[in-house]
Amino acid sequence: MAGEDGNEMTEDMIEDLVLPAAIAAAMIEHCESERPNEACGLLGRSGDGISQVYPMRNAAASPVRYALDPQEQLSVYRIIEDAGSLGGVYHSHTRTEAYPSPTDVRMASEDVPYLIVSLASQPASIRAFRIIKANWTDETGEIIEVPVVVH
Ligand SMILES: [Zn+2]
Repeated sequence: MAGEDGNEMTEDMIEDLVLPAAIAAAMIEHCESERPNEACGLLGRSGDGISQVYPMRNAAASPVRYALDPQEQLSVYRIIEDAGSLGGVYHSHTRTEAYPSPTDVRMASEDVPYLIVSLASQPASIRAFRIIKANWTDETGEIIEVPVVVH
């Protein structure tokens, strides 16, 4: 999954990310409940759509960054893979726009959309991005927005 040659994603290859309204609402509710800290979680995909929200603990317990707890991540990945596949990773920005910070880019390590829920203004907004790196250990990468369709 990481660091393969020919990892050349272009905007043409980006498909809309369809979020059922109940999934979007559950993400926003989780993010609101963790204020003032950032919240984070995972999305499960089954069939061809996002089907499940897995709110996770923010091991960093910080208003400006998030970190998944490795043990929790392992056990939830097992549940997600039994039901389908990882569909996305989300976290909140409590005071800034829904755009990846340099830290978000540095920490990105999954070939799935990274969703950011911004609580900086009401209503909350959700945007999604692919973070493209030649190697997942790279500090920087290319940020490509994935259009989010809530319905
Ligand atoms: Zn962030």
